[in-house]
Amino acid sequence: MNIVLVEDSELVRTQLIRLLAAESRLKIVGIAAGENEAVDLILRTRPDAVLLDLALAPGSGVSVLQRIREAGNASRVLILSNNRDKSLREACFQLGASGFFDKSAEAFQCLQRLAGWLPPLPAMEGHRLEALQSVHLLDTPEQEVFADIVGLAADIVDAPIALISLIDRDRQWFLANKGLDVRETSRSVAFCAHAIEHRELMEIQDARVDQRFFDNPLVRGDPHIVFYAGVPLVLPSGDALGTLCVIDRQPRVLTASQRRALKTLAGAALSEIDLRRQVSHLEDEIDRRHEVEANMMHLATRDPLTALPNRTALHDRLEQHVRLAMRQDSKLAVLFVDLDNFKLINDTLGHDIGDQALICTAQRLSEVLRTSDTVARLGGDEFAVVLPSLHGAEDALQVAAKIVEVLAAPKDIGGHRLHIDCSIGVALFPEHGLTGDLLLRHADLAMYEAKQSGGARPFLCNTDLDLRAQEMLSLDNDLRDAFRRDELFLHYQPQTSLTGGRLCGVEALVRWQHPHLGLIPPDRFIPVAESRGLIGELGRIVLDKAMAQLVRWDAEGVSVPRIAVNVSAAELRPGFADAVEMALRKHGIPPGRLELEITESALTSDGIETLSMLHRLRALGIRIAVDDFGVGYSSLGQLRRLPIDSLKIDRSFVEEIDSNAQDAAIVQAIVTMATALGLCTIAEGAEHEAQFRMLEKLGCDCVQGYFVARPMSAADFNKWEQLFAAAEAA
Ligand code: C2E
Ligand code: CA
Ligand code: CA
Repeated sequence: MNIVLVEDSELVRTQLIRLLAAESRLKIVGIAAGENEAVDLILRTRPDAVLLDLALAPGSGVSVLQRIREAGNASRVLILSNNRDKSLREACFQLGASGFFDKSAEAFQCLQRLAGWLPPLPAMEGHRLEALQSVHLLDTPEQEVFADIVGLAADIVDAPIALISLIDRDRQWFLANKGLDVRETSRSVAFCAHAIEHRELMEIQDARVDQRFFDNPLVRGDPHIVFYAGVPLVLPSGDALGTLCVIDRQPRVLTASQRRALKTLAGAALSEIDLRRQVSHLEDEIDRRHEVEANMMHLATRDPLTALPNRTALHDRLEQHVRLAMRQDSKLAVLFVDLDNFKLINDTLGHDIGDQALICTAQRLSEVLRTSDTVARLGGDEFAVVLPSLHGAEDALQVAAKIVEVLAAPKDIGGHRLHIDCSIGVALFPEHGLTGDLLLRHADLAMYEAKQSGGARPFLCNTDLDLRAQEMLSLDNDLRDAFRRDELFLHYQPQTSLTGGRLCGVEALVRWQHPHLGLIPPDRFIPVAESRGLIGELGRIVLDKAMAQLVRWDAEGVSVPRIAVNVSAAELRPGFADAVEMALRKHGIPPGRLELEITESALTSDGIETLSMLHRLRALGIRIAVDDFGVGYSSLGQLRRLPIDSLKIDRSFVEEIDSNAQDAAIVQAIVTMATALGLCTIAEGAEHEAQFRMLEKLGCDCVQGYFVARPMSAADFNKWEQLFAAAEAA
């Protein structure tokens, strides 16, 4: 309760302040000694209550009272005076004072009176406040759902004011507000702070005659509450966060049906609030899992001795850099660094000294390079460096020469002064290879050349070393031939609904029947297509085949509602949306029957351009699914802004869903969140009935996996569909 103290005696002031400190909910927000000062202070701070001394120097307490009332202030006022004059007391009550106390004898009664105005405190207040925090709604912008609910409440009851009020520690804050021009008031004057103590509707038919409220500033002054009815919003945990309430400026009684309607609306408000609580809880949960995974990742990708990235991590980063360089048409260099005669040091001085030397080498390498460069330890005395965005071979050789020089400087380790030279092989993208593996291999070959010619120097890869590149070239030539000779075909895997057992759609999965190598799975040739710039064409072929098959199914009377097609990140380039639109038009397929599966990282990585393309596709009516959802690191906030229709929960979460409680919790989290965001969920990779049942229990919408069916040819699918439809009918 916010209190203004008006008292000119320092001594009395000190006594009162000490007295009020006994109740933590009584808070002095201002002190004045003179009349003018007091009037200003009260009108400005609009306290819940005023403690007013009558004999002021300068001025008079009665005038203070008179002047604030004239200005429309309705604060509760308690008079503290030694003056026992009856008429004076009468005048004060006339001006709306709530009490008159003897300053020296009745200060304690005055305090009790103040405390009597405080609304009751719920039993588990700390817990309740925590629950309130957990819904993350305080001080948020007004949301449409809640505005609709209060609008409806006001209409049904025909009241000028309706609110959703949340009771915070010291205030009530309005989550939605119809008819009031403030967003919060002090808790101590809040009707709702009383209503949350009830489990049922609290109805005050005429506040002017109610002991608790007749002198409440909200009754005596703006907004002049006379009638109040509030339904508490109680979470399943039992915590009442606030109310849905209606207010009128005249006395009245609700009809039974109005009371029912209010309760129903409160229920609606409550489930909206609870949904937000669950979503934010799940967001936390998922963040935590990502953190754990990031930690594990850190452990799995670091070399324990030097703390540099290890070979696995290098592999990933190198692939990333290669993809980026390909997209940006830039160069990059891979340096293979090998210490000369390191074995000698290890053998003669021992492993401890050897380890120290390696640590020192790692430090020097890190120091000499830029933060955008990558240094990794491959094992033993081998290190690798990736230099992104170079101008050419000159740059790379210069950096390599610098490394040779820096590493050659003497090191003092364990009382020994060591000179360690190194040899470096340099390979460039794209000249010496188009994949990370190939670049590293070629850099390794070049390093060997450097050693052969005496060591302590860099050596640039040359085309004589370029054997594997030939192999690669032949594979991608094969792929070009495959396009021409029509060796690619599709398999189809059903996606069925867990609730109704219907067929929701199929996913098209590409296969390659190689003339010599036999059937090649997509994991082997999609990366080649991506790295050789062939993925665009491959994607167009797949899309065309998928559309053609859908038309065929329609003609054969096989009912396939929708087909899902995978899209690589590298396909999301200008012109993609046009190509998709053209394919749809060519086959006369309604856009709603096509779903594009795009991985989380592809969706979130490339910023504005990708985003606007997705919006365009979606505006056409095409559905977008997030593939392998859950393994990426996009925040849920990011996801919320994406134009997407469904989440394909990654197989890794489904694998142990029937035995691992944490995975089950994550899937539950994803499903709840997806529901809140209006997204459909498809679980990938259910192989057994137990997984299937668990997914069903967790409320997942659809499932795709070996348990239902493996990917199969169109002919096999037709047979499967007949059996499935028959089983469903039975
Ligand atoms: P994906 O999009 O995650 O596709 C699902 C993969 O999981 C398929 O492998 C499918 O056969 C497999 N799968 C389905 N159910 C189960 C199950 O219950 N257990 C297990 N262990 N696996 C299951 P597939 O066909 O080898 O495809 C591998 C990946 O290749 C796909 O992963 C997708 O990323 C890519 N891919 C396939 N076709 C295309 C395509 O036309 N274009 C592009 N860009 N990528 C494609
Ligand atoms: Ca997929
Ligand atoms: Ca997937």
